This record gives sequence, C-alpha cells and structure tokens, in this order.
Amino acid sequence: MLELTNLKGNTWAVLSPVNVGVCVKDGEVALIDTGASPDAGRRVLKLVKEKGWSVKWIVNTHCHADHIGGNHFIQKRTECGLAASPLEAACIEHTAFETNWLWSAAAPRVIRTNFMEAEPSQVTKLLSPGEELEGWGLRAVDLSGHSHGQIGLTTPDGVFFTGDAVIAPRVLAKYGIPFVADSVKMLDTFDRLETMAADLFVPSHGEVCTDVRPLVQVNRECVLNLRAELLSICEKPRTRDEIVAALAQSHNISIDLGQYVLTESAASALITPLLDEGLLAADFSGGTLRLARAETVERQPSGTDKN
Ligand SMILES: [Zn+2]
Repeated sequence: MLELTNLKGNTWAVLSPVNVGVCVKDGEVALIDTGASPDAGRRVLKLVKEKGWSVKWIVNTHCHADHIGGNHFIQKRTECGLAASPLEAACIEHTAFETNWLWSAAAPRVIRTNFMEAEPSQVTKLLSPGEELEGWGLRAVDLSGHSHGQIGLTTPDGVFFTGDAVIAPRVLAKYGIPFVADSVKMLDTFDRLETMAADLFVPSHGEVCTDVRPLVQVNRECVLNLRAELLSICEKPRTRDEIVAALAQSHNISIDLGQYVLTESAASALITPLLDEGLLAADFSGGTLRLARAETVERQPSGTDKN
C-alpha cells in the first residue's frame, strides 16, 4: 500500500516503483514527479490531502512517461504550477515528441502506449540547472544524459532527488540496457554526482541511500560494459538492426516494436562517441549502412560490395 514516508524535516516521499518526492512548506506541497499514470497521480494526491496539505507545485526531473504520468490528473484537480527544465518542458507539453524521436517520425500507435507517451500537461515555469524554485529552496541540478535536460532537485533538508541519473542494480538487471539519450553527458553526470554532498539521495527507481557512490559505480560499469560490447559486436561490419538484435540476445530482451526503438535509441546514444572518437566508422558498401571498428573499414577497398 502506498504511504507517505518522512525522509527528513519537511521532505517526504511516496516510495514506490517510481519514487515521488513531497516537499512541504506551511501546509503546501511541491511534488517531485507524479508517478507512472493518472492513477498514480490520484493516489499521491489522496495521500497529500489526507495530511491536510494542498499541492502548489509539481517539479518534473524529466519528461519520461513514468515520471509525468500523474501530472495531468493532479494539475486538473489542483491548478498547481508545473516546473521543468527548458528541454524537458517541450516534451512534457508535447509528449508525442518522445515517441516521435524514438521512431524518427510520428510513431505508430503500438509505440504510443501510456508507458511511452503520457498525457500532455502545462509547464508554467522553466527551471534551469542552478536555479531555485522561488520560496521553496528546491534547487535544480544538471543531471543530463539519461534524458537531454534531466535535473535533480535538492531540498533545504539536504535530500537530493536524483531522477533517473542512477537506477538500482535490480532495475538495471531487469531492463538489461538503461535508457540513454546522451552517453557522454551521462558519464559526466556520474562523475559530478560522486562529488555532490547530500544527507540522503533518492533515485526515482531504487532505495533511499546516504552514499550514492556505490550506485554510481554500478551504473557507470553498466554503461562502460555496453560501450565495450558495442565495439566487440562491431568487430565485423554490422547494420544498426544487427546491433539491436545482438544486444537483445545478450541481454535477454524480447523484442517488440517498443523494445526495438528503446534498444536502438540507447545503442545509438552509445555509438555516437565511438564514431566521434574514431573507434567506429560508418561504411556504405553495397548501399547499406554498416558500423565497424575503424581499422576494419579502412582495410576495405572503397566501393566494395560485401553482399
Ligand atoms: Zn527516465
């Protein structure tokens, strides 16, 4: 059963598969994310009302559907403000952007599920990293990488809500491949997160902890292992679909259209720095894009049809 848990001082949380922060000030509440669905939003709102509090703000860490799924319901019932970073705000207001960029165009209905695309909601305040939600002492921290404009939020009680910057090892194991929008920024975020002080860290998917560094280490290893795996897969020239198939097989992902675009997108984010660093090269022999270790491609005479 869902309940409100006091983390420290005026900082509370609804701890669930998607943790929701509840920051209280004079009987009013700023929520950090709203859960995965309108029903999650309804249950969070009920818990807040039972305490006699009213929701004044929602602050979203990022635009993924499992974090903004309760936005629309809560905003409609309370007329609360909604704060998000500029990049995430665009996707919170136009949630089809998320599935659109996963599919590279307007996505088919089979991808546009509640899991991938929440109901849009209205952002009323842009909150960039380094800024505070006025009067609440909630400070936005740049945690980009998992999504392009993800922020974490620190509360005046020293509690740091870290969104999906790092996720629990059991969740990593369940999904096999974490979602990555920008793998270079993600690795930078890991480095910065290790240096940040807080009394408590609250990952959206995982347990509250006092030391985030072990969690960062597990997540960093996962990303670096995937990078090494991609280089290994591309020892032979591979199409992007062959790369997705190889990753799905080694991580036991049963592929449907939704899992395909998620895996393909994360793989692309990991491939970008490999191309930029010259470790992989793109080859169009025979008219088909194949990615391969750079030295392999350089050995192929140009114009050779591999088929
Ligand atoms: Zn996410």
